[in-house]
Amino acid sequence: MGPLHDSAMARLTKAQQKKYQPTLLRILRNLGVKLERMEEAVLLAQTDGGGDDGEDLGAEGYSRDFQLGLIENEDVILRSVRAALQRIELGTFGTCDGCEELIPPRRLEVVPYTRFCVECKQEAENAGD
Ligand SMILES: [Zn+2]
Repeated sequence: MGPLHDSAMARLTKAQQKKYQPTLLRILRNLGVKLERMEEAVLLAQTDGGGDDGEDLGAEGYSRDFQLGLIENEDVILRSVRAALQRIELGTFGTCDGCEELIPPRRLEVVPYTRFCVECKQEAENAGD
């Protein structure tokens, strides 16, 4: 009659979790390559700066900031993907960090490195920091 006395959080089976491993590894690889190239581009932009005029660096400075911003975003994703792979090892992949319910498979197909279901993700974003 009462609610199921199940104190354990909802979990995908080990096999279900492992299914996402190749996808995560592929993202990691793709990001790694991209990240390297971008860092290279930023370094080139930086060493290229202290030249003859030194006056009109405005446009270059802007694009450098823009590129650094991109790297930051990719870095966040990179870390999330690594954490997701760790969660597969721990056996907690696919469970929402917020409500401890299963993250819908459709969401995991799109963002396999997410820690939250859609609702908890939105709550986390609204809460700010
Ligand atoms: Zn949740």
